[in-house]
Amino acid sequence: MTVSAEDKMQFLFALRSRGVTDARVLTAMEEIDRGLFVRGLFAERAYEDMPLPIACGQTISQPSVVGLMTQALELNPRDKVLEIGTGSGYQAAILSKLVRRVYTVDRHRRLVREAKAIFEALDLGNITTMTADGSHGLPDQAPFDRIIVTAAAEDPPGPLLAQLKIGGIMMVPVGQSDAVQTLIRVRRTEDGFDYEELRPVRFVPLLEGLGKEA
Ligand code: SAH
Repeated sequence: MTVSAEDKMQFLFALRSRGVTDARVLTAMEEIDRGLFVRGLFAERAYEDMPLPIACGQTISQPSVVGLMTQALELNPRDKVLEIGTGSGYQAAILSKLVRRVYTVDRHRRLVREAKAIFEALDLGNITTMTADGSHGLPDQAPFDRIIVTAAAEDPPGPLLAQLKIGGIMMVPVGQSDAVQTLIRVRRTEDGFDYEELRPVRFVPLLEGLGKEA
């Protein structure tokens, strides 16, 4: 599907009006076609600011939330970033334009396989995909400059906090699984962790173990 210039302009306008103002983030979101990450009829709505269903009963996040979370990560081009919850792969693709290396993990093998195929088609060579329960993080690749969790946890998972570099930032939606959650920004300091509540969000829950069809 081709996106009209007008759809794209409205998309960027909607992002800006909802607080996504970082020029690098907006450029990355202009470059990555969200339509590639949504299947079937829903692809027609890829440029609307709403979450949409993807395979395995999951969702691709609302673009403005992707933008706000990416912006709040305060990324540096040299960063090594871990994403928990690959889903469609859209967030990982945006990150890949902004940092040196992205590791992205999902508990559904199918989602990881489909996202990987899109990364290859787009020649996004700095993304490493993995099927795993991401609440344990990736100890072999740790520590990370930034961690982004795109599923809701009851608390920021301890193993992820442990895998964050000093000076690092983690974004995580925290709260009861099917209610509205709070997006938290965690900064690791020399002495511990600082927590900042940013805004209400609604994400699918972070679940244990691998997806059943895996
Ligand atoms: N970032 C995605 C949207 C994520 S939806 C995008 O850009 O499209 C949340 C994802 O988190 C789902 O795909 C779900 O399978 C995954 N997930 C939930 N619990 C998980 C866990 N413990 N480990 C890894 N992935 C998990």
